[in-house]
Amino acid sequence: MPSRTVVISGASIAGPALAFWLHRHGMHPVVVERFPHLRPGGQTVDIRGAGQNVTRLMGIEEEIRAGSTGEEGIRFLDADGRTKAAFSSAAFGGRGFVTELEILRGELSALLYERTRRNTEYIFGDEVSEVHEEPGHLRLAFKSGAERKADLLVAADGIRSRTRDLVFGDTTRIRSRGLYTAYFTIPRHPSDGNWARWYNFPGGKSVTLRPDNLGTTRALMSFLSPPHGYDRMPEEEQKELMRHTFAGHGGPVPRTLGEMRDCDDFYLEEVAQVHMPRWSRGRVAAVGDAAYCASPLSGMGTNLALVGAYILAGELGTHDDHRDAFAAYEKVLRPYVAQAQDLPPGTPRLALPRTQAGINVLHAVLRAATTPPVSKVVRRFLVPAAYDFELPAYPTR
Ligand SMILES: Cc1cc2nc3c(=O)[nH]c(=O)nc-3n(C[C@H](O)[C@H](O)[C@H](O)COP(=O)(O)OP(=O)(O)OC[C@H]3O[C@@H](n4cnc5c(N)ncnc54)[C@H](O)[C@@H]3O)c2cc1C
Repeated sequence: MPSRTVVISGASIAGPALAFWLHRHGMHPVVVERFPHLRPGGQTVDIRGAGQNVTRLMGIEEEIRAGSTGEEGIRFLDADGRTKAAFSSAAFGGRGFVTELEILRGELSALLYERTRRNTEYIFGDEVSEVHEEPGHLRLAFKSGAERKADLLVAADGIRSRTRDLVFGDTTRIRSRGLYTAYFTIPRHPSDGNWARWYNFPGGKSVTLRPDNLGTTRALMSFLSPPHGYDRMPEEEQKELMRHTFAGHGGPVPRTLGEMRDCDDFYLEEVAQVHMPRWSRGRVAAVGDAAYCASPLSGMGTNLALVGAYILAGELGTHDDHRDAFAAYEKVLRPYVAQAQDLPPGTPRLALPRTQAGINVLHAVLRAATTPPVSKVVRRFLVPAAYDFELPAYPTR
């Protein structure tokens, strides 16, 4: 097989995972990350099915288990703190809200970086700004002014991937799910405990507080809204938007908004999916959220990144011609991605009712969720369909 140099943009999950497997297949990965350092933020991400199998093949499954947040389950509460429904992490066979294998996104990213940094060139604080396809290679220009040649380029820079947009232009569809979510870390209170707590508020809003393994609490505030470009506003304006949107609500809201003021990892996103007709063009491909973000509503983002990286590297390792490898990557992975992106109808509106009566119905349904026949319907919402995917085996060094 040719020993290719592959430049990867993005050092979160998909980028370092791809670097790991490319090295195993005898290639030279170079990862360029726009931020000056590895990004630490984010909540717990679930690792399921084929994603878990990839971590096993990478030899990191037990490290992930050791870095688990130890979340024992999730409770749905009213604003007065009364539990309306609860699911332990064992509910739905360990495949529901809380999975058996979970870790903070930032911890997983750091673990993948540690596992790859000796065999991968990492460049922080820079990004690809121009891509020129020349006979037999790519010539890449970087924002810093640097230039370099590469055999291939892979966009692993997330849902708003600029690298993808440089090459694939407007063929990408970003499909909004009508929801904004803010993630941030707040101080842990003694009453926070080891269960996640989910509170609904009229107007299609929710607050979730989740324990982590670092002595803090992870907050997630969501509200239904058509796209308004809030994710592109300066951070202070975004925080003001959250204060305005949640003003007047009780329960955990005053505390969460108060502590949001001083958090240093605030991140507001428009919840959306990425759909691309093709995941490669010439010598450039895309992986992870950049190519097929399924949105946090799917519970599958990290799995798609891990599995996509494994398959892309595996196909490159077993094909001389990158065009054949890219075609095989799509053929193998498309069905898995399609399953993950196929969210149940009514998502996310059903989980964020606009009225108190709707919230009461949601709580009643959740209370009945483990009893047949309701469990069959609720399962469709809580357990991603993507458990049945069998990983191809690729010979590695
Ligand atoms: C800070 C952060 C917090 C997150 N929190 C959560 C969460 O709480 N829950 C959840 O379900 N998902 C979260 N996600 C998304 C989650 O990581 C992904 O859905 C999934 O793991 C797939 O990862 P990815 O590597 O494809 O993309 P991402 O995780 O989005 O990573 C993309 C990486 O590319 C970098 N980047 C962006 N633009 C460029 C560029 N032009 N050049 C080079 N690098 C670039 C970004 O800084 C980032 O490191 C978060 C992502 C980030 C970056």
